[in-house]
Amino acid sequence: MNNIINVTSGKGSSTAFLILGEDKTALIDCGMAYCASNLIRNIQQVLEDGRKLEYILLSHSHYDHIGAVPYLRKVWPDVKVLAAEYAQNVLTKESALKTIRELGNGAAALYGESQLLNYDDNLMKVDEKISDGDLIDLGGTTITVLETLGHTKCSLSFLVNNQVIFPSETSGVMSKSGKLYSSFIISYKETIDSIKKCQKTNAKYIVSPHLGFVSESETPIYWEKCMEAANRTRNFVLELFQEGFDEDKIFEEYKKNFQDKEARSLQPDKAFEINNRAMIKSIINNK
Ligand SMILES: [Zn+2]
Repeated sequence: MNNIINVTSGKGSSTAFLILGEDKTALIDCGMAYCASNLIRNIQQVLEDGRKLEYILLSHSHYDHIGAVPYLRKVWPDVKVLAAEYAQNVLTKESALKTIRELGNGAAALYGESQLLNYDDNLMKVDEKISDGDLIDLGGTTITVLETLGHTKCSLSFLVNNQVIFPSETSGVMSKSGKLYSSFIISYKETIDSIKKCQKTNAKYIVSPHLGFVSESETPIYWEKCMEAANRTRNFVLELFQEGFDEDKIFEEYKKNFQDKEARSLQPDKAFEINNRAMIKSIINNK
Protein backbone atom coordinates (compact mmCIF):
# COMPACT_ATOMS: atom_id res chain seq x y z
CA MET A 1 0.00 0.00 0.00
CA ASN A 2 2.86 2.41 0.58
CA ASN A 3 3.68 2.20 -3.12
CA ILE A 4 0.36 3.90 -3.99
CA ILE A 5 0.80 7.61 -3.47
CA ASN A 6 -1.69 10.43 -3.82
CA VAL A 7 -0.11 13.20 -5.93
CA THR A 8 -3.36 15.01 -6.76
CA SER A 9 -3.18 18.72 -7.37
CA GLY A 10 -5.76 21.43 -7.84
CA LYS A 11 -9.43 21.98 -7.13
CA GLY A 12 -11.84 20.24 -9.48
CA SER A 13 -9.17 17.84 -10.73
CA SER A 14 -9.55 14.13 -10.81
CA THR A 15 -7.41 12.33 -8.28
CA ALA A 16 -3.93 11.42 -9.51
CA PHE A 17 -2.17 8.45 -7.91
CA LEU A 18 1.39 7.40 -8.51
CA ILE A 19 2.02 3.64 -8.39
CA LEU A 20 5.61 2.62 -7.75
CA GLY A 21 6.57 -0.83 -8.98
CA GLU A 22 10.00 -2.34 -8.46
CA ASP A 23 10.89 -1.64 -12.09
CA LYS A 24 8.40 0.87 -13.40
CA THR A 25 6.07 3.66 -12.32
CA ALA A 26 2.56 4.57 -13.43
CA LEU A 27 0.26 7.48 -12.83
CA ILE A 28 -3.50 6.79 -12.71
CA ASP A 29 -5.22 9.90 -14.12
CA CYS A 30 -3.57 13.27 -13.93
CA GLY A 31 -6.08 16.03 -13.28
CA MET A 32 -6.56 19.38 -14.94
CA ALA A 33 -4.12 21.38 -17.03
CA TYR A 34 -4.07 24.58 -14.96
CA CYS A 35 -2.51 22.84 -11.94
CA ALA A 36 -0.08 20.60 -13.86
CA SER A 37 3.01 22.27 -12.39
CA ASN A 38 1.91 21.36 -8.86
CA LEU A 39 1.19 17.80 -9.97
CA ILE A 40 4.66 17.54 -11.51
CA ARG A 41 6.24 18.86 -8.33
CA ASN A 42 4.28 16.31 -6.27
CA ILE A 43 5.50 13.48 -8.53
CA GLN A 44 9.09 14.69 -8.49
CA GLN A 45 9.05 14.74 -4.70
CA VAL A 46 8.16 11.04 -4.71
CA LEU A 47 10.44 9.85 -7.52
CA GLU A 48 13.99 9.58 -6.36
CA ASP A 49 17.28 8.10 -7.54
CA GLY A 50 16.67 9.14 -11.12
CA ARG A 51 13.42 7.20 -11.44
CA LYS A 52 11.16 8.28 -14.27
CA LEU A 53 7.45 8.24 -14.93
CA GLU A 54 6.89 5.35 -17.38
CA TYR A 55 3.10 5.20 -17.80
CA ILE A 56 0.05 7.42 -17.54
CA LEU A 57 -3.18 5.39 -17.33
CA LEU A 58 -6.30 7.33 -18.23
CA SER A 59 -9.68 6.28 -16.84
CA HIS A 60 -11.38 8.20 -19.68
CA SER A 61 -10.90 11.18 -21.97
CA HIS A 62 -12.53 13.97 -19.95
CA TYR A 63 -10.55 17.20 -19.50
CA ASP A 64 -10.44 17.01 -15.70
CA HIS A 65 -8.67 13.62 -15.85
CA ILE A 66 -6.27 14.16 -18.76
CA GLY A 67 -5.53 17.91 -18.77
CA ALA A 68 -1.99 17.57 -17.45
CA VAL A 69 -0.87 15.05 -20.10
CA PRO A 70 0.94 17.59 -22.37
CA TYR A 71 2.80 19.06 -19.40
CA LEU A 72 3.87 15.65 -18.10
CA ARG A 73 5.25 14.79 -21.54
CA LYS A 74 7.50 17.84 -21.42
CA VAL A 75 9.13 16.58 -18.20
CA TRP A 76 9.11 12.87 -19.09
CA PRO A 77 9.29 12.70 -22.93
CA ASP A 78 9.38 8.88 -22.96
CA VAL A 79 6.21 8.46 -20.90
CA LYS A 80 3.56 6.24 -22.51
CA VAL A 81 -0.07 7.29 -22.23
CA LEU A 82 -2.39 4.27 -22.09
CA ALA A 83 -6.17 4.41 -22.49
CA ALA A 84 -9.11 2.73 -24.23
CA GLU A 85 -9.22 2.71 -28.01
CA TYR A 86 -12.27 4.96 -27.97
CA ALA A 87 -10.33 7.56 -25.96
CA GLN A 88 -7.46 7.26 -28.42
CA ASN A 89 -9.89 8.09 -31.24
CA VAL A 90 -11.59 10.93 -29.37
CA LEU A 91 -8.24 12.66 -28.89
CA THR A 92 -7.58 12.74 -32.63
CA LYS A 93 -10.68 14.90 -33.18
CA GLU A 94 -10.26 18.65 -33.43
CA SER A 95 -13.68 19.31 -31.90
CA ALA A 96 -12.90 17.18 -28.83
CA LEU A 97 -9.51 18.85 -28.35
CA LYS A 98 -11.24 22.22 -28.59
CA THR A 99 -13.81 21.30 -25.94
CA ILE A 100 -11.08 19.95 -23.66
CA ARG A 101 -9.20 23.23 -23.97
CA GLU A 102 -12.33 25.36 -23.42
CA LEU A 103 -13.38 23.45 -20.31
CA GLY A 104 -9.78 23.54 -19.08
CA ASN A 105 -9.61 27.31 -19.52
CA GLY A 106 -13.00 27.72 -17.82
CA ALA A 107 -11.85 25.69 -14.83
CA ALA A 108 -8.55 27.57 -14.68
CA ALA A 109 -10.41 30.89 -14.48
CA LEU A 110 -12.88 29.52 -11.94
CA TYR A 111 -10.14 28.19 -9.68
CA GLY A 112 -8.12 31.38 -9.74
CA GLU A 113 -5.62 30.96 -12.58
CA SER A 114 -5.55 34.11 -14.72
CA GLN A 115 -3.51 32.82 -17.69
CA LEU A 116 -4.93 30.86 -20.61
CA LEU A 117 -3.61 27.34 -21.11
CA ASN A 118 -0.77 27.19 -23.62
CA TYR A 119 -0.07 23.53 -24.32
CA ASP A 120 0.39 21.88 -27.69
CA ASP A 121 -2.69 19.87 -28.77
CA ASN A 122 -0.39 17.33 -30.45
CA LEU A 123 0.79 16.21 -27.01
CA MET A 124 -2.77 15.48 -25.86
CA LYS A 125 -2.93 11.95 -27.22
CA VAL A 126 -2.99 8.30 -26.32
CA ASP A 127 0.13 6.29 -27.27
CA GLU A 128 -1.16 2.77 -26.74
CA LYS A 129 -4.62 1.33 -26.35
CA ILE A 130 -5.46 -0.96 -23.46
CA SER A 131 -8.57 -3.04 -22.96
CA ASP A 132 -10.44 -5.29 -20.57
CA GLY A 133 -8.25 -7.92 -18.91
CA ASP A 134 -4.91 -6.36 -19.89
CA LEU A 135 -2.22 -6.56 -17.23
CA ILE A 136 0.35 -3.83 -16.76
CA ASP A 137 3.40 -5.19 -14.98
CA LEU A 138 5.41 -2.66 -13.00
CA GLY A 139 7.63 -5.29 -11.35
CA GLY A 140 6.16 -6.76 -8.17
CA THR A 141 3.01 -4.75 -8.81
CA THR A 142 0.42 -5.55 -11.45
CA ILE A 143 -2.42 -3.37 -12.65
CA THR A 144 -5.45 -5.10 -14.18
CA VAL A 145 -7.55 -3.15 -16.66
CA LEU A 146 -11.34 -3.40 -16.36
CA GLU A 147 -13.67 -1.99 -18.98
CA THR A 148 -16.46 -0.19 -17.10
CA LEU A 149 -18.54 1.76 -19.61
CA GLY A 150 -21.44 4.00 -18.64
CA HIS A 151 -19.87 7.35 -17.83
CA THR A 152 -18.27 7.39 -21.27
CA LYS A 153 -17.59 4.88 -24.04
CA CYS A 154 -13.95 4.79 -22.98
CA SER A 155 -14.25 4.33 -19.21
CA LEU A 156 -11.70 2.03 -17.61
CA SER A 157 -11.19 1.00 -14.00
CA PHE A 158 -7.85 -0.17 -12.62
CA LEU A 159 -7.20 -2.87 -10.04
CA VAL A 160 -3.79 -2.81 -8.38
CA ASN A 161 -2.47 -6.15 -7.09
CA ASN A 162 -6.07 -7.43 -6.85
CA GLN A 163 -6.37 -5.31 -3.76
CA VAL A 164 -6.93 -1.65 -4.54
CA ILE A 165 -9.51 -0.60 -7.10
CA PHE A 166 -9.64 2.73 -8.91
CA PRO A 167 -13.21 2.59 -10.25
CA SER A 168 -13.92 4.81 -13.23
CA GLU A 169 -16.37 7.66 -12.81
CA THR A 170 -19.05 5.33 -14.17
CA SER A 171 -19.69 4.03 -10.63
CA GLY A 172 -20.11 7.52 -9.24
CA VAL A 173 -18.14 10.00 -7.17
CA MET A 174 -18.10 10.09 -3.39
CA SER A 175 -17.83 13.43 -1.63
CA LYS A 176 -15.87 14.07 1.56
CA SER A 177 -19.06 13.76 3.59
CA GLY A 178 -19.76 10.30 2.15
CA LYS A 179 -22.51 11.33 -0.26
CA LEU A 180 -22.45 9.42 -3.51
CA TYR A 181 -23.03 11.42 -6.70
CA SER A 182 -24.18 9.41 -9.67
CA SER A 183 -22.18 10.28 -12.77
CA PHE A 184 -23.30 7.95 -15.48
CA ILE A 185 -23.88 9.61 -18.82
CA ILE A 186 -24.17 7.34 -21.81
CA SER A 187 -25.90 4.28 -20.39
CA TYR A 188 -27.73 3.36 -17.20
CA LYS A 189 -27.67 -0.35 -18.01
CA GLU A 190 -23.94 -0.47 -18.69
CA THR A 191 -23.40 1.53 -15.52
CA ILE A 192 -25.17 -1.03 -13.34
CA ASP A 193 -23.16 -3.82 -15.02
CA SER A 194 -19.94 -1.86 -14.42
CA ILE A 195 -20.70 -1.29 -10.74
CA LYS A 196 -21.34 -5.02 -10.30
CA LYS A 197 -18.13 -5.81 -12.13
CA CYS A 198 -16.12 -3.60 -9.77
CA GLN A 199 -17.88 -5.04 -6.74
CA LYS A 200 -17.04 -8.58 -7.88
CA THR A 201 -13.31 -7.89 -7.69
CA ASN A 202 -13.71 -7.84 -3.89
CA ALA A 203 -11.02 -5.20 -3.72
CA LYS A 204 -10.16 -4.36 -0.14
CA TYR A 205 -9.59 -0.68 -0.80
CA ILE A 206 -11.42 1.75 -3.08
CA VAL A 207 -10.11 5.00 -4.51
CA SER A 208 -13.10 7.11 -5.55
CA PRO A 209 -12.46 9.50 -8.43
CA HIS A 210 -12.11 13.12 -7.21
CA LEU A 211 -12.00 11.95 -3.57
CA GLY A 212 -9.20 9.48 -2.94
CA PHE A 213 -9.23 6.48 -0.59
CA VAL A 214 -12.74 5.71 0.64
CA SER A 215 -12.93 5.50 4.43
CA GLU A 216 -13.01 2.16 6.22
CA SER A 217 -16.63 2.69 7.27
CA GLU A 218 -17.84 3.58 3.75
CA THR A 219 -15.92 0.87 1.90
CA PRO A 220 -18.30 -2.04 2.62
CA ILE A 221 -21.33 -0.02 1.46
CA TYR A 222 -19.66 1.83 -1.41
CA TRP A 223 -21.02 -0.24 -4.30
CA GLU A 224 -24.55 -0.30 -2.85
CA LYS A 225 -24.41 3.48 -2.61
CA CYS A 226 -23.30 3.65 -6.25
CA MET A 227 -26.22 1.49 -7.29
CA GLU A 228 -28.70 3.55 -5.26
CA ALA A 229 -27.40 6.82 -6.68
CA ALA A 230 -27.68 5.57 -10.26
CA ASN A 231 -31.24 4.35 -9.62
CA ARG A 232 -32.24 7.59 -7.91
CA THR A 233 -31.00 9.63 -10.87
CA ARG A 234 -32.72 7.44 -13.43
CA ASN A 235 -36.04 7.39 -11.55
CA PHE A 236 -35.95 11.16 -11.05
CA VAL A 237 -35.55 11.76 -14.79
CA LEU A 238 -38.13 9.18 -15.82
CA GLU A 239 -40.79 10.49 -13.44
CA LEU A 240 -40.47 14.01 -14.80
CA PHE A 241 -40.48 12.72 -18.36
CA GLN A 242 -43.68 10.81 -17.68
CA GLU A 243 -45.21 13.99 -16.25
CA GLY A 244 -44.57 15.63 -19.61
CA PHE A 245 -41.42 17.65 -18.85
CA ASP A 246 -39.11 18.24 -21.83
CA GLU A 247 -35.31 17.76 -21.64
CA ASP A 248 -34.64 21.42 -20.80
CA LYS A 249 -37.12 21.41 -17.93
CA ILE A 250 -35.83 18.07 -16.64
CA PHE A 251 -32.31 19.48 -16.64
CA GLU A 252 -33.43 22.55 -14.65
CA GLU A 253 -35.13 20.32 -12.07
CA TYR A 254 -32.18 17.96 -11.94
CA LYS A 255 -29.83 20.88 -11.34
CA LYS A 256 -32.01 22.21 -8.52
CA ASN A 257 -32.15 18.84 -6.82
CA PHE A 258 -28.72 17.36 -7.44
CA GLN A 259 -26.23 20.22 -7.80
CA ASP A 260 -25.66 21.09 -4.16
CA LYS A 261 -22.70 23.01 -2.76
CA GLU A 262 -20.45 19.96 -2.67
CA ALA A 263 -21.33 19.05 -6.25
CA ARG A 264 -20.45 22.58 -7.35
CA SER A 265 -17.05 22.31 -5.72
CA LEU A 266 -16.43 19.04 -7.56
CA GLN A 267 -17.36 20.24 -11.03
CA PRO A 268 -17.73 23.61 -12.82
CA ASP A 269 -21.23 24.50 -14.09
CA LYS A 270 -20.38 24.05 -17.75
CA ALA A 271 -19.14 20.47 -17.34
CA PHE A 272 -22.10 19.67 -15.09
CA GLU A 273 -24.45 20.88 -17.81
CA ILE A 274 -22.79 19.04 -20.70
CA ASN A 275 -22.63 15.75 -18.80
CA ASN A 276 -26.10 15.82 -17.32
CA ARG A 277 -27.92 16.97 -20.43
CA ALA A 278 -26.35 13.96 -22.17
CA MET A 279 -27.32 11.74 -19.23
CA ILE A 280 -30.97 12.89 -19.40
CA LYS A 281 -31.04 12.23 -23.14
CA SER A 282 -29.64 8.71 -22.70
CA ILE A 283 -32.23 7.83 -20.05
CA ILE A 284 -35.14 9.08 -22.16
CA ASN A 285 -33.90 7.35 -25.29
CA ASN A 286 -33.42 4.03 -23.51
CA LYS A 287 -36.42 3.92 -21.18
ZN1 LIG B 1 -15.65 12.34 -16.57
